[in-house]
Amino acid sequence: MKTLHKRVLVTGGAGFLGSRLCARLVAEDCEVICVDNFYTATKDNVSQLLGHPHFELMRHDITFPLYVEVDEIYNLACPASPIHYQFDPVQTTKTSVHGAINMLGLAKRTKARILQASTSEVYGDPECHPQSETYWGRVNPIGPRACYDEGKRCAETLFFDYHRQHRLEIKVARIFNTYGPGMHPNDGRVVSNFIVQALKGEPITLYGDGSQTRSFCFVDDMIEGFVRLMASPAEITGPINLGNPIELSMRQLAERIRELTGSRSELVYRPLPQDDPTQRQPDITRARELLGWEPRVPLDDGLKQTIFYFEGLLSRGLA
Ligand code: NAD
Ligand code: UDP
Ligand code: UDP
Repeated sequence: MKTLHKRVLVTGGAGFLGSRLCARLVAEDCEVICVDNFYTATKDNVSQLLGHPHFELMRHDITFPLYVEVDEIYNLACPASPIHYQFDPVQTTKTSVHGAINMLGLAKRTKARILQASTSEVYGDPECHPQSETYWGRVNPIGPRACYDEGKRCAETLFFDYHRQHRLEIKVARIFNTYGPGMHPNDGRVVSNFIVQALKGEPITLYGDGSQTRSFCFVDDMIEGFVRLMASPAEITGPINLGNPIELSMRQLAERIRELTGSRSELVYRPLPQDDPTQRQPDITRARELLGWEPRVPLDDGLKQTIFYFEGLLSRGLA
């Protein structure tokens, strides 16, 4: 039966980005089905939505078929931080590939629009800078990051083949490093590591010499990008880069966080993980032109909100 509200499925909806997206969609009067197998998340991130009449939480692993009736699908399910996706690499590839096939099959049957959370990792350790969508990438197919990078690349292939073969309405977002409240304190990502270390007065761990760069986008800017991409005309399939082009080295990030937290933590150096990209910056010309989107939240403002969130977790003994 058709309802008055748009029915939206968010896979990985209990995760960092998924939970923020669910909250935004519920606030916009959508009926949200949040699917998650709680591989890297708990119910905490969506606890405020539980009990809302337009929100439903389903424990389900998307490597298995799923039969629900929806109008739109945001496919976010996948462990995203290197320590999580390398913990069980076979499951990571299964989630990206089998998960994409199931969600595309669901989209095909229900004629739903489907958005894939792809990643800047499809560019691997890039030779071209900044990275635009026309660059095909440089990924080591047999290294420890490959389960994630190649899984996401194969998912993109599937999206475009379902589009060409079955006329599915697809949207592929290539997401660059995103941070903000809702991040897991222990998933090893750089922003969470540095903030928690700084707040606890523990040494801040720079991998390698800290000269490698990343470009960090605040979570609310990213969610705005998702929603705009989903609402864009059918001919806009992507891939489309979403991220903040302001690039900085990990050493600069550590200094910023030390200053904003007022911490006296020392900087210590640890070995650089294998295949760690040396630089990364999105070219967001396409997103600007096609979606009228660009990030709005300056790094310091976003970091302050994130620090506030982690202070809350620490005070409750959760980090
Ligand atoms: P996250 O780990 O917080 O969220 C992922 C969610 O997916 C978790 O809740 C996890 O339990 C769930 N999940 C994992 N495997 C599943 C499965 N088989 N079935 C159902 N649920 C499953 O990560 P995030 O940062 O919120 O990332 C969300 C998406 O965005 C991911 O697809 C990730 O690859 C992509 N992405 C994120 C970033 C970033 O910087 N945060 C950058 C690039 C791409
Ligand atoms: N699928 C699903 N939900 C649906 C429809 C399909 O999970 O509502 C799964 C189904 O299990 C199948 C996959 O999606 O394995 C791909 O579906 P498709 O129709 O493309 O392929 P087929 O069913 O012909 O193998
Ligand atoms: N990094 C670091 N110290 C940490 C965690 C990460 O120097 O405690 C580095 C990591 O080597 C990488 C960058 O920070 O160069 C971003 O790492 P993250 O895992 O957050 O994301 P990704 O490598 O997937 O971009």
